[in-house]
Amino acid sequence: MRTSTLKFKLAAAAAVLCLLAPPALARPRGDERNTLRSLYTPEYLAFKKRIMAEFTKAGPGRFSEFVKRGKFGRDTGGDKNQKVLALTFDACGGRHSGYNKKLIEYLRREQIPATLFITGLWIEKNRDTFAELAKDPLFEIENHGLLHRLCSTEGRTMYGVHSTRDLGDVIDEMELGARKINDLSGRRPIFFRSATAYTDELSLKVAERLGMEVVSYDILSGDATHSSAKTMSANILKGARHGAVVIMHFNHPGWAEREALQLAVPELRKRGYDFIKLEDFSMK
Ligand SMILES: [Zn+2]
Repeated sequence: MRTSTLKFKLAAAAAVLCLLAPPALARPRGDERNTLRSLYTPEYLAFKKRIMAEFTKAGPGRFSEFVKRGKFGRDTGGDKNQKVLALTFDACGGRHSGYNKKLIEYLRREQIPATLFITGLWIEKNRDTFAELAKDPLFEIENHGLLHRLCSTEGRTMYGVHSTRDLGDVIDEMELGARKINDLSGRRPIFFRSATAYTDELSLKVAERLGMEVVSYDILSGDATHSSAKTMSANILKGARHGAVVIMHFNHPGWAEREALQLAVPELRKRGYDFIKLEDFSMK
């Protein structure tokens, strides 16, 4: 066996072992516990108990970025010749609670509708900006979780991201995130994206029970791996299909999403694409 093959086999075995390793059950950190405690009203706790009782016998199911196959061609129900893309931008929060104002200004200038997935953590650090975004009809505000915890009912994680430990944590993440957005904007979110977009099938069912559809993505822009504007634009153009969902972020002022869109948008428009919010896919 050649050394390179052996190395590859060892790496593959290590990867499998990682997958088989028991999940790290990360307790909420001190500040998170305080946030949760402040939101645990008797009404909410009774609600959570009812939801938990409905799902206690269910297994976690598949764990993936794509627990629900929704790739390409979300139904717009309208003109069959219509070509649309949904640009979605996450704001993760915690240490990553910045605001890419230039990107938002660009979307406004170009009148490009977009869907913003926002965490409770980000909202706490950006109250005024959140209020301003929420009242702008160009943007749809959706739920990226209360504390940016990856939603897994058995505590699985990806990329070392802080995850939920169990079903109860998943309900907290989804429902308390939705309530926070509703309280501050007057509109309850109808979509949920888990931190990293990974989740399990049970979480998907819980989201549905709570009135939200889990959304992943079709086109990975590459912003999270610090790709150049040129590479990101190429990723978007290469992946563009009618009904596709593009994933980017708006919480890192130093990342190149705006520059990438400045390259990609004129070309997409030339190809006949319009941009729509996620809610406009299903409502027609
Ligand atoms: Zn995120």
